[in-house]
Amino acid sequence: MTATIDLEDTWCAHNYHPLPVVLVRGEGALVWDETGRRYIDMMGAYSAVSHGHCHPRMVRALTEQAGKLAVISRAFHTAPLGPFAELACRLTGMDRALPMNTGAEAVETALKAARKWAYTVKGVPEGQARIIACRGNFHGRTIAIVGMSTVEQYRHGFGPFPGGFDLVPFGDAPALERAITPDTAAFLVEPIQGEGGIIVPPDGYLARCRELCDRRRVLLIADEIQTGLGRTGRLLACEHEGVKPDAVTLGKALGGGMLPVSLLLGKAELMDVFQPGDHGSTFGGNPLAAAVGREALQVLLDEGLIERAAQLGDWLMGRLRAIQSPLVRDIRGRGLFIGIEFDAGRIQARDVCDRLAAKGILTKDTHRNTIRFAPPLVISRELLDEAVGCLGAVLAEA
Ligand SMILES: *Cc1c(COP(=O)(O)O)cnc(C)c1O
Repeated sequence: MTATIDLEDTWCAHNYHPLPVVLVRGEGALVWDETGRRYIDMMGAYSAVSHGHCHPRMVRALTEQAGKLAVISRAFHTAPLGPFAELACRLTGMDRALPMNTGAEAVETALKAARKWAYTVKGVPEGQARIIACRGNFHGRTIAIVGMSTVEQYRHGFGPFPGGFDLVPFGDAPALERAITPDTAAFLVEPIQGEGGIIVPPDGYLARCRELCDRRRVLLIADEIQTGLGRTGRLLACEHEGVKPDAVTLGKALGGGMLPVSLLLGKAELMDVFQPGDHGSTFGGNPLAAAVGREALQVLLDEGLIERAAQLGDWLMGRLRAIQSPLVRDIRGRGLFIGIEFDAGRIQARDVCDRLAAKGILTKDTHRNTIRFAPPLVISRELLDEAVGCLGAVLAEA
């Protein structure tokens, strides 16, 4: 185990600080380490493994397409892309999809689309378009995106950043109203802030934002890279408030636990700002990714994973709330997307993660001294029960 860790440590840049486990195999919500020890994956790769590890249908879609045609570029048409885009648009109620690979690329695509829409459709003077984002956001790691982050570590040493972004407090619709100007192109928001600490906004917030955006002709862009695809118990987390955004970014679980696959989906008025050559990606929309993405969506539907997340999530929330510990400050979330915040004066979230790992439960801390429970949506009630039991034991010990 330590030899493997040493090798990684020596030859990889140190931009992560992993827990000291070396994982070699996964199946559903379980993973195994080099020594054959079993763990419950309560993190689901930051929601990228909603289908569970090595889902048989995902493995089949991947390997079948890999044996036919994997990468060719958008210079040519390929069979899997159209059906993937069609299914994604039909499910989200959007008109068109633009395929990219990582989440950050989908967000960058959204920012470019919104700016071009502002100039060519809304009539904002060239070079003046502004985009509003929320404090505490997480939209990825590119220069433009960390430029709108409020996490000092994500920005420190990486400037200068592009301008044209404004920040408002998350969950505060009046602040959004005050921030909108005639030059505002879009409001970019996570329906629940994920990396920011699983922060659920007040009821009615998104609906209020929708009204404001309609009234002031501002695009509402929902970053559902983490909250989307069933994680919160709905296909899109925006649906909890009956809100239809003008554009949505999807990623993470869209790759079915196999590949990076992301999409910007939007209404025609926005998506049609792109002309051939305006924007692209060598790998975006490749046949392998499209086949995997389509199967990932189909599996969600066929296996009822969205309803499953809603039911198991409610049940898990009840079980977690029943843990009476003075170390816990707050438990919040929706569906199988739950944050447990600890009293920083008494215990560190990282310490809880280390202790959970020692008991065979894997998860990761996030901001605000919070750990997340975002397991694969295929997880069984028994495994969830085991994870809750271990958390209870860790808190009792600590
Ligand atoms: C993870 C995440 C991203 C970035 O996705 P990458 O694939 O890591 O680039 C963007 N937005 C949200 C809300 C995320 O959770």
